Amino acid sequence: MSKPALLIVDDDPQVLAAVRRDLRSRYREDYTVMSAGSGGQALSTADELKKRGESLAMMISDERMPGMLGHEVLARSREMYPLARRVLLTAYSDIDAAVKAINEAHIDHYLSKPWDPPEERLYPVVDDLLDDWQAARPSEAKGLRLIGHQWSPRSHVIKDFLASSLIPYRWMDFARDADARGLLDAVGVGDGELPVLVFEDGSVLRDPQPRQVAQRLGKSLSASFDVYDLVIVGAGPAGLAAAVYGASEGLRTLLLDRHAPGGQAGSSSRIENYLGFPTGVTGSDLTRRALAQAQRLGAEFLAPLEVTRVSVEAGYKRLTFGDGRELVTRTMLAATGMIYREHPAAGMAEHMGAGVYYGAATTEAAACAGRRVFVIGGGNSAGQGAMHLARFAEQVDIVIRRDSLRETMSHYLIDQIGKTRNIRLFTRTDIARVEGDGHLERVALTSLDDGTCRVEQADALFVFIGTRPHSEWLPRDVLRDDKAFVLTGRDLIAAEAYLRIWKETREPLLLETSVPGVFAAGDVRAGAMNRVASAVGEGSMMVRLAHEYLALT
Ligand SMILES: Cc1cc2nc3c(=O)[nH]c(=O)nc-3n(C[C@H](O)[C@H](O)[C@H](O)COP(=O)(O)OP(=O)(O)OC[C@H]3O[C@@H](n4cnc5c(N)ncnc54)[C@H](O)[C@@H]3O)c2cc1C
Repeated sequence: MSKPALLIVDDDPQVLAAVRRDLRSRYREDYTVMSAGSGGQALSTADELKKRGESLAMMISDERMPGMLGHEVLARSREMYPLARRVLLTAYSDIDAAVKAINEAHIDHYLSKPWDPPEERLYPVVDDLLDDWQAARPSEAKGLRLIGHQWSPRSHVIKDFLASSLIPYRWMDFARDADARGLLDAVGVGDGELPVLVFEDGSVLRDPQPRQVAQRLGKSLSASFDVYDLVIVGAGPAGLAAAVYGASEGLRTLLLDRHAPGGQAGSSSRIENYLGFPTGVTGSDLTRRALAQAQRLGAEFLAPLEVTRVSVEAGYKRLTFGDGRELVTRTMLAATGMIYREHPAAGMAEHMGAGVYYGAATTEAAACAGRRVFVIGGGNSAGQGAMHLARFAEQVDIVIRRDSLRETMSHYLIDQIGKTRNIRLFTRTDIARVEGDGHLERVALTSLDDGTCRVEQADALFVFIGTRPHSEWLPRDVLRDDKAFVLTGRDLIAAEAYLRIWKETREPLLLETSVPGVFAAGDVRAGAMNRVASAVGEGSMMVRLAHEYLALT
């Protein structure tokens, strides 16, 4: 297999030669640096590469070119190479135009000319984007392969675990992938034992649990110490931020998650409003970066590991895990976020993982190619999910109870949805029931205006409605509001049970719960803002408060 390509497009031969020289000097070991003098030539080069089955990792195009503007070239290349990173090269005076083109052309970055010195202004950007591309590209056939049935809930669990854990693998649908049967025969597994995970050395795991997969992939599920300064439960944005700050400020820090890193944000196909990412960032890229940062600074990370119980002895918090093991910590952060509420329609529970999914749009999107899918919900997560699914599915229908998306979804997403030809919106509608033989095949939709019901064919349905906090695992003394969100800081003082439970002579610290030294941050906390940035802010703040608490004890 030849090296992946980096393709530079510019009509100015001098600029073209300069970018080529700089890229070659750093990347020629791992990439083939190619160049084109016009948009048309670039697209035919990409087409040639595609026909030869070769990879394109990045296209860098100048904006001002006769015939076709750079952002148009980049947008058109997306059809051939959806995962290739796209960079627009602009003159300083064209930056406004470049920013406007970001949404239309899905550009990953813009670079203004000149880019000297490349060590500061070119290579860090290209390094980052190539890392993202490496993480997103499908693994080579020789890597990890998962063979299963598309509509099997057990296959979905393993797919979701591998994707959320940022482990590259190739999915082989037993019914559709011609190579699946041959591979099963080669490794001596019957089709009654699916899903099967086939490792590079030919060894297999039959119908595994996520824990077995993690163990087989060499991920540790045991903590290195018996006592920690800070244990963070939940590795969404709040937990990841706390891990970065905890470890960097010298606390012995353990981060754990019952599923995988990233939390809700990890399932987002594109977060567009997080500071510092002008072209947006996928949830998996943000997670990968944050986890690498936390681990580099010294935080330990374990997943999948669920905390089922917490008790407090002489100020120390004793955490019990799902497998019965225990450890002790001086401070603890509950950063366990929220999950979607189960939809009450008949048939939903039976089809969970077999066509009905809660969130999970990024895990299942590719399998929806050419299919008809439904999205229930009118919030930003539903909007992002619908936009992502529309890249693969034949038709995406959003179902909402309200008469418009105006009050529940950001303006930019409503605009994007309005411009996407294969997304429709069904307002004042609800799902009455779902049906199918072994997997979802039909949904019955009810009109909230006249009560009429119609049945539509459906291959998959993604639920993004209502959320409930993950707070049931916390000790009873951690006060919660009537919806089970955790009370912290000054909100606690107003709670009826506060005086009965809080025995300290001081008031609770800002993010402290009613159990001293137990903090809460992010979506699990009453009054949280339900945003990536606010969860990150609270997780970061909490470490300073943990220091304050430790100084008091
Ligand atoms: C699809 C989608 C798109 C979104 N897009 C945006 C966006 O564009 N911009 C934006 O600002 N916000 C967005 N949000 C909202 C944002 O993702 C959340 O506000 C944010 O993730 C909350 O972070 P958190 O760390 O508090 O909790 P979460 O992200 O919910 O993470 C909690 C973690 O805790 C783990 N956990 C739960 N219970 C336990 C337990 N007992 N033991 C161990 N681990 C446990 C869970 O597995 C999970 O990983 C989006 C949300 C979704 C679902």
